[in-house]
Amino acid sequence: MPRLSQIVAVAFAALVLAAGAAEPPDRIYVNSRVWTGEPARPEALAFAVRGDRFVAVGTDADVRDLAGPRTVVTDLQGLRVVPGFDDAHWHLPSRRTARLDGAGSVEVIQQRLLDYSRTLPSGSWVVGRGWMPTDFPDRTADRRYLDAVFPDRPVVIRDRDSHQALANAPALRLAGITRETPDPADGWIVRGTDGEPTGLLKEAAASLVTQLLPNLSVDDTYELLLQELATAASLGLTSLQDATDVGLTQNERAAVLRAVEKGTMTVRYRVPLPLEIGVPAEQIAKYAALRDSTRDALVSYGFVKTILDGTVDAKTAFMLEPYVGGGNGVPMLSQKDLDRAVADFDRAGLQVEIHAIGDGAIRMALDAYEHASKVNGPRDRRHRIEHVEVPAAADVARFRALGVIASTQPIGATPDVVMLENYAPLLGPERFARAYNPKQFDVAGATQAFGSDYPVYSMDPLAGIYAVVTRQTRDGVPAGGSHPENRISVEAALRHYTGDAAYASFDESRKGTIAVGKYADFVVLSDDILAMAPAELLETRVLLTVMGGRETYRASGFGDSSSR
Ligand SMILES: [Zn+2]
Repeated sequence: MPRLSQIVAVAFAALVLAAGAAEPPDRIYVNSRVWTGEPARPEALAFAVRGDRFVAVGTDADVRDLAGPRTVVTDLQGLRVVPGFDDAHWHLPSRRTARLDGAGSVEVIQQRLLDYSRTLPSGSWVVGRGWMPTDFPDRTADRRYLDAVFPDRPVVIRDRDSHQALANAPALRLAGITRETPDPADGWIVRGTDGEPTGLLKEAAASLVTQLLPNLSVDDTYELLLQELATAASLGLTSLQDATDVGLTQNERAAVLRAVEKGTMTVRYRVPLPLEIGVPAEQIAKYAALRDSTRDALVSYGFVKTILDGTVDAKTAFMLEPYVGGGNGVPMLSQKDLDRAVADFDRAGLQVEIHAIGDGAIRMALDAYEHASKVNGPRDRRHRIEHVEVPAAADVARFRALGVIASTQPIGATPDVVMLENYAPLLGPERFARAYNPKQFDVAGATQAFGSDYPVYSMDPLAGIYAVVTRQTRDGVPAGGSHPENRISVEAALRHYTGDAAYASFDESRKGTIAVGKYADFVVLSDDILAMAPAELLETRVLLTVMGGRETYRASGFGDSSSR
């Protein structure tokens, strides 16, 4: 017979449980304009958070009613709130670099490198990335511009797309590159009229220098990761899906685990595994087990990635018809190998991501996914094609039919000098008209997830949204936009950067919209991006980022107007 005290204890525990279920929210946010991302109820005024979840979404009165004595109430003063941004295609950089994006001139490149070099131990390598040929006089990158400011210290800077690097004289010396050095296979050491290397190293030649760069230790990698996470949070990102085809290095995995252990992981991070040919079934089963054990964790696995072709600018994207001037590009795998590898991973229920940019490679990827569904039977697969820049018109409808996700980079649609003077002429007008065109996937009813391809491009989601809404450069050129018929709305772009990106990682029941029961991942913006002239998107700032109910970024000057 149980004693009375035991019965009382059991009854008391039940009471505590019941009270727990109805506990008031930790925080409520009122007087805001919430874009929920939920099609049935896209707008709300207030929401409540308990622990790491949304527990109410509605009007100020609905939500205020839930407040308890310890609930913190934040008046958002009419500011726009959106779900946390989810970058569906991002890369953890392999090293710290000076960012040279949008420099526009040699002087700016020199100044950024000098500023950055002062943060490094003296004498160490100075590494940068993000320049474009148009930053240099006569569009000709030359080491003399680096030697002028770094006569003794080795410097190497990669271009935006990582197809060439510029090294200064000390860097060339350390690499042993002289006028006698032969070009490596698949690479070119550019030489001046005097026969001396100019410092410009194309394709594989760049690695003659970059292979000398010291590898980052776990500590360095952890510091780099923290910097990237801080940037991500400051831009409203609460989820990052890494698309690196070789997966993470051992040091990177260790750094990520350390961030989880120390509580410094401020995004939900999806980590890639490599798709390779002929991987034994036991290895694939391990991948599937890793996915299952991390399904709802801050750091999760679940997909395999491979690269099927190159880029249009380098004429290495695989096209059905030749580039203007000749050459189709070559796929990196045969259809037979691709079909087999995709079917192997698909059989284990793993999601597949294939980098495919040219219409030829995109068709091969779609064929491989169709093959897998034939041999392995129907299932909710959500295989993805990354970049998917120039699909054949006839293939666009196949995305919806096969349930394949178009994983695209809105900021790539920016009609900058490289696009207008290299990319477009290589494709010719007919293909250029359907390149970098997110609209075609929306019209075809396909699921489209947006990402940045950082560090190739900035990871700022608002910059990406601006690019597809205007199809202009940041300076508003050309007036009216390049191929304005391909523009999409801010709301469509938001959906691709939130709910659709969550769907693309099988996470739509946990995140991606502001809805009861989902993770409290949201962003407060300085202006209402759903009711403004598109040019103002570039002036809009993130004021507050919250991931799982926890503040991961607060803009300086954005005061906490909370009360109890
Ligand atoms: Zn990428």
